[in-house]
Amino acid sequence: MTSFPAQARRVRDSTLTPAWRLSALRECTLHFAPYGFRATWHHLVVNARIPRRLDADPQALIRAVDELDTARQLMMRHVTAYAAQRQQEKATGRRVPAETLRWYSWGFSGLAYCPNPELHPHEPLVVVVQRLIDAHRSGAADPDRCLVCGTERRPSRACPTCGVHPGGPAARADSGQRARQAEQWQRIWSRDIVD
Ligand SMILES: [Zn+2]
Repeated sequence: MTSFPAQARRVRDSTLTPAWRLSALRECTLHFAPYGFRATWHHLVVNARIPRRLDADPQALIRAVDELDTARQLMMRHVTAYAAQRQQEKATGRRVPAETLRWYSWGFSGLAYCPNPELHPHEPLVVVVQRLIDAHRSGAADPDRCLVCGTERRPSRACPTCGVHPGGPAARADSGQRARQAEQWQRIWSRDIVD
Protein backbone atom coordinates (compact mmCIF):
# COMPACT_ATOMS: atom_id res chain seq x y z
CA MET A 1 0.00 0.00 0.00
CA THR A 2 1.47 3.34 -0.98
CA SER A 3 1.23 6.54 0.99
CA PHE A 4 -1.78 8.80 1.38
CA PRO A 5 -0.17 11.73 -0.54
CA ALA A 6 0.74 9.47 -3.49
CA GLN A 7 -2.80 8.09 -3.66
CA ALA A 8 -4.31 11.58 -3.29
CA ARG A 9 -2.27 12.72 -6.30
CA ARG A 10 -3.81 9.87 -8.31
CA VAL A 11 -7.32 10.90 -7.29
CA ARG A 12 -6.59 14.41 -8.59
CA ASP A 13 -4.94 13.19 -11.83
CA SER A 14 -7.47 13.79 -14.61
CA THR A 15 -5.36 11.75 -17.09
CA LEU A 16 -6.35 8.59 -15.18
CA THR A 17 -9.72 6.92 -15.67
CA PRO A 18 -12.41 7.80 -13.11
CA ALA A 19 -12.43 4.16 -11.99
CA TRP A 20 -8.70 4.30 -11.18
CA ARG A 21 -9.18 7.59 -9.38
CA LEU A 22 -12.02 6.11 -7.31
CA SER A 23 -9.79 3.19 -6.42
CA ALA A 24 -7.10 5.66 -5.26
CA LEU A 25 -9.71 7.44 -3.13
CA ARG A 26 -10.49 4.09 -1.50
CA GLU A 27 -6.78 3.66 -0.70
CA CYS A 28 -6.72 7.15 0.83
CA THR A 29 -9.70 6.22 2.99
CA LEU A 30 -7.98 3.02 4.10
CA HIS A 31 -5.09 5.23 5.31
CA PHE A 32 -7.26 7.80 7.07
CA ALA A 33 -10.83 7.17 8.17
CA PRO A 34 -11.97 9.19 11.21
CA TYR A 35 -15.36 7.36 11.33
CA GLY A 36 -13.87 3.97 10.43
CA PHE A 37 -13.55 2.95 6.77
CA ARG A 38 -17.18 2.24 5.89
CA ALA A 39 -18.78 5.24 7.59
CA THR A 40 -16.05 7.56 6.28
CA TRP A 41 -16.59 6.20 2.78
CA HIS A 42 -20.33 6.74 3.07
CA HIS A 43 -19.73 10.30 4.32
CA LEU A 44 -17.45 11.10 1.36
CA VAL A 45 -19.85 9.65 -1.22
CA VAL A 46 -22.77 11.64 0.21
CA ASN A 47 -20.97 14.91 0.97
CA ALA A 48 -19.02 15.08 -2.29
CA ARG A 49 -22.05 13.69 -4.19
CA ILE A 50 -20.04 10.96 -5.97
CA PRO A 51 -22.45 9.63 -8.61
CA ARG A 52 -22.98 6.01 -9.64
CA ARG A 53 -21.70 6.89 -13.10
CA LEU A 54 -18.40 8.59 -12.34
CA ASP A 55 -18.20 10.13 -15.83
CA ALA A 56 -21.18 12.31 -14.93
CA ASP A 57 -19.13 14.28 -12.40
CA PRO A 58 -15.43 13.36 -12.03
CA GLN A 59 -14.94 16.56 -9.98
CA ALA A 60 -16.79 14.81 -7.15
CA LEU A 61 -13.64 12.72 -6.59
CA ILE A 62 -11.61 15.89 -6.06
CA ARG A 63 -14.17 17.27 -3.60
CA ALA A 64 -13.98 14.01 -1.66
CA VAL A 65 -10.18 13.78 -1.51
CA ASP A 66 -9.89 17.48 -0.63
CA GLU A 67 -12.19 17.02 2.37
CA LEU A 68 -10.29 13.93 3.53
CA ASP A 69 -6.89 15.55 2.96
CA THR A 70 -7.74 18.71 4.92
CA ALA A 71 -8.82 16.66 7.93
CA ARG A 72 -5.74 14.43 7.66
CA GLN A 73 -3.40 17.40 7.56
CA LEU A 74 -4.98 18.75 10.74
CA MET A 75 -4.54 15.35 12.38
CA MET A 76 -0.92 15.12 11.20
CA ARG A 77 -0.11 18.50 12.73
CA HIS A 78 -1.43 17.27 16.09
CA VAL A 79 0.41 13.97 15.81
CA THR A 80 3.68 15.77 15.03
CA ALA A 81 3.17 18.20 17.91
CA TYR A 82 2.33 15.29 20.23
CA ALA A 83 5.48 13.38 19.22
CA ALA A 84 7.59 16.48 19.93
CA GLN A 85 5.91 16.93 23.32
CA ARG A 86 6.60 13.27 24.21
CA GLN A 87 10.26 13.66 23.26
CA GLN A 88 10.48 16.62 25.58
CA GLU A 89 8.71 14.76 28.41
CA LYS A 90 11.04 11.78 28.04
CA ALA A 91 14.07 14.10 28.05
CA THR A 92 12.91 15.50 31.37
CA GLY A 93 12.41 12.00 32.79
CA ARG A 94 8.62 11.78 32.50
CA ARG A 95 7.85 8.25 31.33
CA VAL A 96 4.05 8.38 31.44
CA PRO A 97 2.51 10.70 28.86
CA ALA A 98 0.78 13.74 30.30
CA GLU A 99 -1.98 13.42 27.77
CA THR A 100 -4.25 10.48 27.08
CA LEU A 101 -3.10 8.35 24.18
CA ARG A 102 -6.59 7.24 23.19
CA TRP A 103 -7.28 9.77 20.46
CA TYR A 104 -3.76 9.32 19.19
CA SER A 105 -4.00 5.55 18.79
CA TRP A 106 -7.41 5.72 17.07
CA GLY A 107 -6.46 8.69 14.94
CA PHE A 108 -6.17 7.09 11.57
CA SER A 109 -8.84 4.43 11.68
CA GLY A 110 -11.56 5.62 13.97
CA LEU A 111 -11.07 8.83 15.92
CA ALA A 112 -14.88 9.14 15.85
CA TYR A 113 -15.75 5.52 15.08
CA CYS A 114 -19.30 4.97 13.78
CA PRO A 115 -20.41 1.31 13.74
CA ASN A 116 -23.39 2.06 11.48
CA PRO A 117 -21.88 3.29 8.16
CA GLU A 118 -24.99 5.34 7.41
CA LEU A 119 -25.16 7.13 10.77
CA HIS A 120 -22.27 9.56 11.25
CA PRO A 121 -21.80 13.32 11.72
CA HIS A 122 -22.67 15.45 8.70
CA GLU A 123 -20.32 18.34 9.32
CA PRO A 124 -17.07 18.58 7.35
CA LEU A 125 -14.53 16.02 8.61
CA VAL A 126 -12.05 18.71 9.60
CA VAL A 127 -14.62 20.30 11.96
CA VAL A 128 -15.37 16.99 13.70
CA VAL A 129 -11.70 15.99 13.94
CA GLN A 130 -10.78 19.34 15.51
CA ARG A 131 -13.61 19.08 18.03
CA LEU A 132 -12.60 15.53 18.98
CA ILE A 133 -8.94 16.35 19.41
CA ASP A 134 -9.81 19.38 21.56
CA ALA A 135 -12.14 17.25 23.70
CA HIS A 136 -9.61 14.45 24.18
CA ARG A 137 -6.78 16.86 24.91
CA SER A 138 -8.71 18.92 27.44
CA GLY A 139 -9.46 15.75 29.45
CA ALA A 140 -12.61 17.42 30.78
CA ALA A 141 -15.11 15.50 28.66
CA ASP A 142 -18.36 14.33 30.27
CA PRO A 143 -18.37 10.50 29.90
CA ASP A 144 -22.18 10.50 29.57
CA ARG A 145 -22.28 12.92 26.65
CA CYS A 146 -21.21 12.47 23.05
CA LEU A 147 -17.97 14.38 22.39
CA VAL A 148 -19.10 15.29 18.89
CA CYS A 149 -22.71 16.49 19.31
CA GLY A 150 -23.28 16.68 23.09
CA THR A 151 -26.18 14.20 23.14
CA GLU A 152 -26.57 12.30 26.39
CA ARG A 153 -25.78 8.62 25.80
CA ARG A 154 -24.53 5.55 27.63
CA PRO A 155 -20.74 5.10 27.54
CA SER A 156 -21.22 1.60 26.09
CA ARG A 157 -23.49 2.67 23.19
CA ALA A 158 -23.11 4.61 19.97
CA CYS A 159 -24.57 8.11 20.07
CA PRO A 160 -28.21 7.92 18.87
CA THR A 161 -27.88 11.34 17.21
CA CYS A 162 -24.57 11.28 15.32
CA GLY A 163 -23.58 7.59 15.49
CA VAL A 164 -20.15 8.01 17.12
CA HIS A 165 -19.28 5.15 19.51
CA PRO A 166 -17.24 6.19 22.56
CA GLY A 167 -15.59 2.75 22.62
CA GLY A 168 -13.81 3.44 19.36
CA PRO A 169 -13.01 0.79 16.73
CA ALA A 170 -13.02 -1.97 19.36
CA ALA A 171 -16.82 -1.60 19.64
CA ARG A 172 -18.28 -4.54 17.76
CA ALA A 173 -21.64 -4.89 16.08
CA ASP A 174 -23.80 -7.85 17.13
CA SER A 175 -24.48 -10.64 14.61
CA GLY A 176 -27.86 -9.19 13.55
CA GLN A 177 -26.28 -5.83 12.86
CA ARG A 178 -23.45 -7.49 10.93
CA ALA A 179 -25.95 -9.31 8.67
CA ARG A 180 -27.77 -6.05 7.93
CA GLN A 181 -24.50 -4.26 7.35
CA ALA A 182 -23.41 -6.67 4.59
CA GLU A 183 -26.45 -5.71 2.50
CA GLN A 184 -26.09 -2.06 3.49
CA TRP A 185 -22.44 -2.01 2.42
CA GLN A 186 -23.31 -3.40 -1.03
CA ARG A 187 -25.61 -0.43 -1.52
CA ILE A 188 -23.04 2.08 -0.28
CA TRP A 189 -20.20 0.60 -2.34
CA SER A 190 -22.25 0.75 -5.54
CA ARG A 191 -23.11 4.36 -4.62
CA ASP A 192 -26.78 3.49 -4.77
CA ILE A 193 -27.32 6.29 -2.27
CA VAL A 194 -26.78 9.47 -4.29
CA ASP A 195 -29.47 10.84 -6.64
ZN1 LIG B 1 -23.25 12.43 18.95
